Amino acid sequence: MRNTVDGVRWLGHAVLAIGLTLLTQIGGLAWLIALFFKRRLLAFAVIYSALSLATLAVAPSFGRVPLPCGPSGELRSQSWLYCAMHRHYVTPELRALALQFAREMDRQHPGTVTQTLDAGFPFWDEFPLLPHISHDDGRKLDLALYYTDQTGTCLPHETRSPIGYWAFEDGPSRCPPQWLSLRWDLTWLQRLWPNRPLDEERTATALRLLVNDARVSRLFVEPHLADRLGVQGARLRFQGCRAARHDDHIHIQL
Ligand SMILES: [Zn+2]
Repeated sequence: MRNTVDGVRWLGHAVLAIGLTLLTQIGGLAWLIALFFKRRLLAFAVIYSALSLATLAVAPSFGRVPLPCGPSGELRSQSWLYCAMHRHYVTPELRALALQFAREMDRQHPGTVTQTLDAGFPFWDEFPLLPHISHDDGRKLDLALYYTDQTGTCLPHETRSPIGYWAFEDGPSRCPPQWLSLRWDLTWLQRLWPNRPLDEERTATALRLLVNDARVSRLFVEPHLADRLGVQGARLRFQGCRAARHDDHIHIQL
């Protein structure tokens, strides 16, 4: 009986460590080290924080740098969670592109803050940032859309959903409903979001700047959104019917 209980307990720890690794890359290791301590949750918080700081120093030797996490500047993380979970690492080239793009957005539409969502993990290629299977080399970045309030005034850094994802813009789709697909409609969630219309002017500027940037190899956005905003270009692609919808955010890759 005792062996069974111990077995279940260790299985629980293993599942938790794997889950934390998939979500944050470093969290699983922090949990395994914390198991050696009596006050496990406190130990986990301290070890996780220490590993996060060490990651800032070590990641550049893996070719990754963090995107800005602070509360000021033209480029910011949409939520502190992306930074706390180490999901904001990119290659130096992509960080330079994102900073330059955000500055240009602010120049063309003063006061604009460009917000980053999921980017990549700090270590190793081919370690996907779930659920984005392609975000595995620091060369991919998701950006939040730009919104206005109900009177049409720019909202500098508010999104519709609290994490920037899953507040979909309606539009015609060529994708039939299907199983085993990451194309979630999350219809039940949509009515929870505040009424913040898409800032078509700023979002169109953003798409135009990115489509015309030679460093960007691909930009994913739903075809109906690109049509609505009148943006075209060879780099503008449809991600396919099995991948996540791209009318709640913009995906760019080098
Ligand atoms: Zn993406």
